[in-house]
Amino acid sequence: MSSEKSPLPQGPHASGCLDIFKRIFSSSSKSDNVASHERVLETMSQLCVSDSDVKLSALWEQDDLAKSVHEAIEKVSAELRDIGLKLHADPELSYQEFHAHALLTDYLEGKGFQVQRKAYTLDTAFVARAGNSDKVTIGICSEYDALPGIGHACGHNLIAISGVATAIGLKAVIEKYGLEAEVKLFGTPAEETTGGKIVMLKHGAFDGVDVCMMLHGANADVVYPAFLALDTVTVEFFGKASHASASPWEGINALDAAVLTYTNIGLMRQQMHPSQRVHGIIKDGGKAANIIPDYTLSTYTVRAPKYTEVEVLKKKVERILKGAAAATGCRVEFEWGVPYKDILTNDPLAKKFESYMNAQGLKYASKQEQLSKLSGSTDMGNLTYALPGIHPMFNILNLHGEDDKSMGLHTTAFAHAAAQSLGHVTTLRAAKSLAMTGVECIVDKEFLKSVKQEFNDQK
Ligand SMILES: [Zn+2]
Ligand SMILES: [Zn+2]
Repeated sequence: MSSEKSPLPQGPHASGCLDIFKRIFSSSSKSDNVASHERVLETMSQLCVSDSDVKLSALWEQDDLAKSVHEAIEKVSAELRDIGLKLHADPELSYQEFHAHALLTDYLEGKGFQVQRKAYTLDTAFVARAGNSDKVTIGICSEYDALPGIGHACGHNLIAISGVATAIGLKAVIEKYGLEAEVKLFGTPAEETTGGKIVMLKHGAFDGVDVCMMLHGANADVVYPAFLALDTVTVEFFGKASHASASPWEGINALDAAVLTYTNIGLMRQQMHPSQRVHGIIKDGGKAANIIPDYTLSTYTVRAPKYTEVEVLKKKVERILKGAAAATGCRVEFEWGVPYKDILTNDPLAKKFESYMNAQGLKYASKQEQLSKLSGSTDMGNLTYALPGIHPMFNILNLHGEDDKSMGLHTTAFAHAAAQSLGHVTTLRAAKSLAMTGVECIVDKEFLKSVKQEFNDQK
């Protein structure tokens, strides 16, 4: 914490759009030794045609704060690029992210954060804190787990550095202006499997945090992502083995129960809303064709736009399981996992983030259009049910806000894109907007009040 504090700037500081781009981006990262960097900056300038394009005076009222955020993030751009590439080259699966944990925590400590390693019972989770007061606490999440076989095909290497960049931007402003606030960067493992955030939430990691936000690279720019809520059930049927030829009548066929389940879930799909999903497999269907199976193991995942819909689907699936057991004479045991909830996007936070992205040349599709794009599921959803939050997706494939349908997440092509310099530039652009959204929560009490009001109304 610096003892030299600057007075909090008072707006407005309206300037021309291109001026802002020159000022904000002229010192942008030169970390990539590639010509594309200049092209990226040129494109960003061209995107903003005239002052009337965006309401700059309102947007950049906190101009000096934005400048502080920008400068703090750009200063570490080369270092973050290096971290992003190292993570990309060394993809680690859920709960095995030991190198990522070490790399990120060492770096954050070196930048003056107080770091708690192996946090909240998880060996690869961490919390990095900066600021001198918990009057307002801004939480940010970094993910860093990869996918089996295809590495960082979900771009979590970029999510990791987006969180670090955002936290560094917030720390700079808090310290420069002596704000009564703190930033907490949560290193959250295992998003792709069982949800490290859910474990951390259960152990109180987010207690006292006012808002929690994160970013996710994608093939589109979306502030209102329609992540599906989900839950997964493990199903076991217990029957009685017998010789399939000599005495089939003595057996109780557990595979029949598994097949009835599979079939009836298929029939149930006819009456489901198109936005809902149920999918599953039979993992163990018996040991040999000449033995009536006495045991089967299946798993099914149900998903829907809202968690309340998932709860309804779960009851229907349970009726099917019990019905299959009754029909075959088997005994059934089933256990639901830990649900991922949908994302409750906090509207004031989303609008604020959007306005800072607009100011950096990005135009979004309508909210309705954004919400119509169904996506996967994330443990961030559970956090947004516990405290106000947003989970914007940013396009790592182009700067214009256009969807790129040529490649989706979880593909090798996307993994390749997550290592390119364009992805790095768009990551930092989004991180600056997220940091400014956090700054607004700190400096504007009325804004934070509206964020909390919205959260209470949403629940
Ligand atoms: Zn992901
Ligand atoms: Zn993913």
